[in-house]
Amino acid sequence: MARSVVSLAATISRAVSCGLDGLREVTKDDRSPVTIGDFAIQALVIQLLRDALGDVVVVAEEHAALLRQPDHRLHLEAGLALLEHVWPGVTAESMLASIDRGARDAFDAATGSAVGRSARREFWTLDPIDGTKGFLRHQQYCTALALISEGRPVLGVLGCPHLSEDLTRPVDQPDPVGTMFFAVEHEGAFVAPLGVGQELGRPLRRRAVDLSQPVRVCESYEKSHSAENVGERVVRASGLDRHPSIQLDSQCKYAVVARGQADAYLRVTGTPDYRERIWDHAAGSLIASEAGCTVSDIHGRPLRFLGGRDLVDNFGIVVAPSALHARLLKGCEAFVEPEPGVESSP
Ligand code: AMP
Ligand code: MG
Repeated sequence: MARSVVSLAATISRAVSCGLDGLREVTKDDRSPVTIGDFAIQALVIQLLRDALGDVVVVAEEHAALLRQPDHRLHLEAGLALLEHVWPGVTAESMLASIDRGARDAFDAATGSAVGRSARREFWTLDPIDGTKGFLRHQQYCTALALISEGRPVLGVLGCPHLSEDLTRPVDQPDPVGTMFFAVEHEGAFVAPLGVGQELGRPLRRRAVDLSQPVRVCESYEKSHSAENVGERVVRASGLDRHPSIQLDSQCKYAVVARGQADAYLRVTGTPDYRERIWDHAAGSLIASEAGCTVSDIHGRPLRFLGGRDLVDNFGIVVAPSALHARLLKGCEAFVEPEPGVESSP
């Protein structure tokens, strides 16, 4: 079910990508971009989860306040037009209500905690379009859906509409078919072409890295999401040789490491008080770990999905097969977790 929901999401993001030029993008209060695709996918996925599973809790990236503003009437109508094909009977109110079921207030009400420090029940987390900036550049992005139980992702799906199944195709050449990655805790990770039937796909098993050879790291495309030259600095400080990094948006980075197209994913924000969001890591981290990678923060701590919407107990992300992961953690020792409000230096 989670796989078919994410596959349907790709039909929406593709429709947005192909048209609606003037209407695609809206700017949020924090100045980050959001598209009508983000809103429509969030509304649809939450609705379909509830149709199938009842009154589930979903922690998602967007809320509908912007779309409720009269200024954004055209965006609301464009979102509705996208949904009419896949959600019979959808109305403006049902779309807005569905988006808001994933918003902060709904999560806090359901978990009974303003801080959201809750391990009490299972919940889903959704990034409707992860890597919105990549999506707007017609580069990599994905829809990421995960089920969290007791602070750990136990099911994860990444629908990557521009990532080829062909590992030799460079990630900056968008693929027309796309790839879906799926993992269940203790049962493995799987890969299949996006949107084809309901097969589980091929098992994904990551090879070890030969540390005598240069390693290839992947990292964010957006410079503002990273401290300067993180990949280069960490690999050098680990005493390893390196190939040039691969830069790409979204949790596609976890998938690229899980399937061996890159050796490691390194992420260290350059924004001192930024904490990683759970929807940016839940699905991808499970897929990478089930494929045989080790996933932690830069201190080697496992990611803990217990702190509401943020990974409050973690700083940075390191993903790699185990021997390389251990070496990279040594290289991360140079990165001290900054105190909030203190500017980091490169
Ligand atoms: P990526 O495509 O891997 O660069 O990650 C995209 C995600 O980065 C977005 O979904 C945002 O939640 C997140 N993000 C936004 N600002 C920052 C920041 N200053 N540092 C790290 N991540 C950020
Ligand atoms: Mg995101």
